[in-house]
Amino acid sequence: MNGKIAALLRDFAAIQKSKQSMWGYKRAASAILALEQPIESFLQPDGTLRKIPNIGPSSSRVILEVLQTGTSPTVERAIETSGQAKEVDRRRDLRGHFLSRAQVVAALRNASLAGPRLGDYRGDLQMHSTWSDGSQTLDEIVAAGIARGYSFCGVTDHSYGLPIARGMSMVDLARQHREIDALNRKHRGAFRLIKGIEANIRADGTVDMKPAELRLLELVVAAPHSALRTATDQTARMITAVKTPSVHILGHPRGRKYGSRPGVTAHWDRVFAAAVRMNVAIEIDGDPSRQDVDFDLAKQAVAAGCLFALDSDAHSTRELAYAETAIAHARLAGVPTERIVNCWPVERLLEWLASRSA
Ligand SMILES: [Zn+2]
Repeated sequence: MNGKIAALLRDFAAIQKSKQSMWGYKRAASAILALEQPIESFLQPDGTLRKIPNIGPSSSRVILEVLQTGTSPTVERAIETSGQAKEVDRRRDLRGHFLSRAQVVAALRNASLAGPRLGDYRGDLQMHSTWSDGSQTLDEIVAAGIARGYSFCGVTDHSYGLPIARGMSMVDLARQHREIDALNRKHRGAFRLIKGIEANIRADGTVDMKPAELRLLELVVAAPHSALRTATDQTARMITAVKTPSVHILGHPRGRKYGSRPGVTAHWDRVFAAAVRMNVAIEIDGDPSRQDVDFDLAKQAVAAGCLFALDSDAHSTRELAYAETAIAHARLAGVPTERIVNCWPVERLLEWLASRSA
């Protein structure tokens, strides 16, 4: 229900004429998606809603309509008369298999699911620091990782091929590695920072760093950031990326965004088969707006025999909790815990990373 209501509020936002009401409904949709509990639990005996931050009176009206009738006549009527019904429909198709926070919490609690538990998760392998487009320092990542009970984190700032995300120069990368070495000396035996990068997969499937540069890294996440709105088949692009020596993880493989873009179209069974052959892990990116791959596509990767990486893609320490979204998808897909590289002891993880880099 939270997901359904948030989607309707997003639809409503999209057809608003004033920027201010557009942002109001968008904010309301985000607030509903972030609720820990089902929206029904906010209903009071007198039929009104308990106060929810960022939800104004007109959003409340939509929510109550949906709770009472299963849909919102207000929103549906407004869409019909807006002249934008086609565009709204297009966006509706781009919200498949996204989980609300309440669904994430439910999946984490549901003991009948077979996948990994929160306690099995030992560390996160995709995140961004102040060295590229993140707001968290390496110090803060270590502190937040330890506070979350992790024994490692992979720092994967953007590579120089993606200047829009403040991709790092090779000079900066060397400086970052010295900072990581110092932190690892300080926390030896307690916590391990892993020297990673998020390399960009170009349109032809090659990544934006030279082989010798990739070999300077312990962990390479390769991910697509372009050609994400075309229906053209990109199987060859993704297979080329997976076959690139030194690549460990295929990051947010589709590159989709909630209600906005479909991402890569490919014969995923062939991509997954190549990943199995190359010993490359498929990422479940837990950023709520990405959720990529989702539980549905993850089931195919499970059947193919893939390894998995469950990552937050955090740009701030608060966002490290996004890993829980990835874990929820893995549980819904029934990913065996032993196939999740984040659940391995750090020694085994480092061995796998080194074997792929060799
Ligand atoms: Zn990315």
